[in-house]
Amino acid sequence: MLIFIISKILIEYYILFNMHEMSVALNIIKIAEEELNKANGKRIEKIHISVGKLSGIVIDSLEFALEVAMKEGKIPKAEIVIDQFPARMKCLHCHEVFEAEEFYTICPVCNKFEHEIISGKELLIKSLTII
Ligand SMILES: [Zn+2]
Repeated sequence: MLIFIISKILIEYYILFNMHEMSVALNIIKIAEEELNKANGKRIEKIHISVGKLSGIVIDSLEFALEVAMKEGKIPKAEIVIDQFPARMKCLHCHEVFEAEEFYTICPVCNKFEHEIISGKELLIKSLTII
């Protein structure tokens, strides 16, 4: 019974977890469709997305969600390219600006933890190739 409960929680977590990527994917497809219409193009050949390290987005999940979302939308078979970029942080003590791979990164100059995030939480559509 305990195993059943744990697996149920895991499944719910998994669904919840993927819903985030799915809603992001649906937004990307919506934007791509709008741009396709604006450009009066035939179809979208390639979508290049860049994801910040602190965005909380799992690239494999986003890729999968985009495949599903494209089947529902008007842009079948578009090539998807996703890359990641590091976060930029500013130390609140010594004002050093540095790159970080994760939220819990200490300042490389003064070794303190308090910082503000300058970038790295966002997702960018870098380019759309419309033909
Ligand atoms: Zn510092």
